[in-house]
Amino acid sequence: MDRVNPAKVVFVAGASRSGSTLLEDQLALASGGTNVGEMRRINDFFLENWEKITDPSGRHGCACGQPVRDCSFWNEVAAHAGITFGKDRFSSQGGWIVRTTFKLSALLLGARVTRSVAKIWGPFRQELESAENCFALYDAIAELTGGTCVVDASKQIHQYLMLRVARPDAMCLIVLVRDARAVSLSMIRGSRRNGFVHHIEKRKKTGGVTEPDLVRAAALAWWRAMSNVFLTGLLTPRRRKAFIRYEDFCDHPQQETRRLLTHFDIPAEGSREDIVTHAIGGSPSRRSADFRTIRRDDSWRKQWFDRPRFVLPWRVSLLNRLAGYRDDDA
Ligand SMILES: [Zn+2]
Repeated sequence: MDRVNPAKVVFVAGASRSGSTLLEDQLALASGGTNVGEMRRINDFFLENWEKITDPSGRHGCACGQPVRDCSFWNEVAAHAGITFGKDRFSSQGGWIVRTTFKLSALLLGARVTRSVAKIWGPFRQELESAENCFALYDAIAELTGGTCVVDASKQIHQYLMLRVARPDAMCLIVLVRDARAVSLSMIRGSRRNGFVHHIEKRKKTGGVTEPDLVRAAALAWWRAMSNVFLTGLLTPRRRKAFIRYEDFCDHPQQETRRLLTHFDIPAEGSREDIVTHAIGGSPSRRSADFRTIRRDDSWRKQWFDRPRFVLPWRVSLLNRLAGYRDDDA
């Protein structure tokens, strides 16, 4: 099992609409590594499972523009890794109970104990098999490209914990956070809006779904993602984690990217602007011509509510403050 020079896996965790697509791209450019986007979803893209792929960029398949099944990069990687897309799994197979117990075990008992449980309990074993399949792909990518790291922007903390339990020494965690208000407004503008509308309609018997209802629901989705991400960050050793705010990254992209790489002891090889990426999913902005021109998107401030009665749920407000955002700076 021991590899002479296994790839470091830099995992970007956070809520959606927080700039992870930009960040993974810059990390790969600066390190000479490879960014794989939301690799946990590669089977959905390979099988063209449109019900699961709701993102507007999904129809294009791989970021190179080819459908994943026709992409030469992913075909080569799969062949090298001995992986069959559509059959082997790369994401969690467990239901709520399995995922919750796995998370608690990984966070409170640690990787070794959780691996021991997996030896005797099938559902945990399945989670680790998905993680090992991911590592088969990461290793193949590192060998084929000669890069020092693979950047995975799967965002979801459960995916990170699966990977960390399987191979703790390979993992570097980046906690990416963006102002809850910006994320909430962005979430309800996009493809997820209908999901929030249905969710609120089910719970609210009378009256229509208002804009503040939607923002509150999206803000709670941010809270659920970020409270798990922060908790995992707090319980991760210092040298294996780094925090970054979207706003600081956009203001000083090169400086912040270098800070993260230096922290994880990954050499910065210099920027290769012409690089073609084969990332999965992520923001549709990846396809725009000026994608690599980074500027902070603060347009949410103009749309934010000036009605004094609108308040974020208190736990969202609290976590947002702990992340360094102030309610009165909108
Ligand atoms: Zn491709």
